[in-house]
Amino acid sequence: MKKVLILGVNGFIGSHLADAIIAKTDWELWGLDLTNDKLSEEVKASSRFHWLEGDMLKSYKLIESTIQQVDTVLPLVAVATPSVYVTNPIKVFELDFEANLPIVRWCAKYHKHLVFPSTSEVYGCSEEAEFNENTTKLVTGPIKEERWIYSTSKQLMDRVIYALGNHGTEPLNYTIFRPFNWFGPRLDRLVTDGAKAGQARVLTQFISDIQFGRTLHLVGGQQRRCFTYVADGVDALLKIIANDGDRATRQIFNLGNPKNELSIEALAKLILKLAANYSKVAANAAKTQIEVVKAETFYAKGYADVPRRVPSIAEASDKLNWSPQVDMETGLKMMLDSYWL
Ligand code: UDP
Repeated sequence: MKKVLILGVNGFIGSHLADAIIAKTDWELWGLDLTNDKLSEEVKASSRFHWLEGDMLKSYKLIESTIQQVDTVLPLVAVATPSVYVTNPIKVFELDFEANLPIVRWCAKYHKHLVFPSTSEVYGCSEEAEFNENTTKLVTGPIKEERWIYSTSKQLMDRVIYALGNHGTEPLNYTIFRPFNWFGPRLDRLVTDGAKAGQARVLTQFISDIQFGRTLHLVGGQQRRCFTYVADGVDALLKIIANDGDRATRQIFNLGNPKNELSIEALAKLILKLAANYSKVAANAAKTQIEVVKAETFYAKGYADVPRRVPSIAEASDKLNWSPQVDMETGLKMMLDSYWL
């Protein structure tokens, strides 16, 4: 029986992973976060769930002692929203890199399996048709394009983790995973009226815009993403944590769905088409306009975009026997149901 610690258990990935661990395994789970409003009753009521309420930045003693009690650690506390990369880049570095570094080091010191969230964004604006964990060069822009602080903070941590796992007498047991635009219920909080646009990732932004009767903004619109339903991603994480035959040890895995590739313009049209089926928002959806806007106006100076981002999932398929199952429209319906049913 595994003992697992999730830092940021109330987040998007954390809360879905907690659901899956409690529902599908016999593992014990420790979960730290500021609040627990995204956690299901099943998780909260489980005798296998140990709730640790607290701010990660002020809970290092508790975190260090809990790491000593468990087998596997997932530090999921991070900023992962592009608007923040350009409005508060220092926060991105402090939280995603600095604040997570001691946790990485404790995993090395206490010989725990570190399962670390990297990002598809580390590949940056690489023009390769498919991003490969072992061969694709990581390409970012000049320093004044502040967006890349997220990509490079995550890249630096990937490199630190790799080095800790590759040198010394007792190398770190790690698995790095790279989510490609995971989506599903509880992705981000809705962007309410009066809030600055772009605060949420694209799916929540569009859902919020339709719900509050606003125009959908395309920052260009021809850029493409591969959207991955969260249950598929979590399924891979369960395999990584189980780590049968040490198949996930010292590996990097892209976790994305190459079949769910579409442009942001196509995404906007698909959401509008589906929204027409929900009585809560059908009237709004019928009136919703789509408008192309400039990135600088929508986000802020320093924004740059990724034109195309497609994962190779050969590694995950080979070592984890994993492949994503949920197609875009099915996943999107499940996400929209959670907001509009
Ligand atoms: N985007 C958009 N309109 C919005 C929000 C986002 O056109 O209202 C674009 C954004 O510029 C990016 C893509 O949608 O190219 C995906 O954005 P997201 O925030 O989900 O994160 P990313 O995939 O860039 O990390």
